[in-house]
Amino acid sequence: MTIWFCLDCFATVDEGAGTCARCGSSLQVPGRTYEQKLIRALSHPLRDRRLMAAEILGKLRSQAATERLAEISLDGSDPYLQAEAVRALAAIDPEHGVIRRLKEGGPVLAQAAAREGRAGP
Ligand SMILES: [Zn+2]
Repeated sequence: MTIWFCLDCFATVDEGAGTCARCGSSLQVPGRTYEQKLIRALSHPLRDRRLMAAEILGKLRSQAATERLAEISLDGSDPYLQAEAVRALAAIDPEHGVIRRLKEGGPVLAQAAAREGRAGP
């Protein structure tokens, strides 16, 4: 079962709900899927939202997110986001070239996340 989140405040919401019960934000953005919104949230100005987006995309096994997650997995500017992206990418595609590379060596957090290869919830 997919858990749905409001991508403005990350409260859990019911699938198909029109607005978020907590912050009132519209949940129906025309032309954008939930997955696409999450991928966009990987660039959210607030860090905890970027982390949440990475974690959720991993749990969803989002194939569409692999390219962006791979980019972040190699970007050491935020080690925690990097590790979360690595964990998500490893859940989606354990054999991804970036995961293989990070298992061999890389920043400590990213390497640990790649080796962990978390299988999801
Ligand atoms: Zn909300």
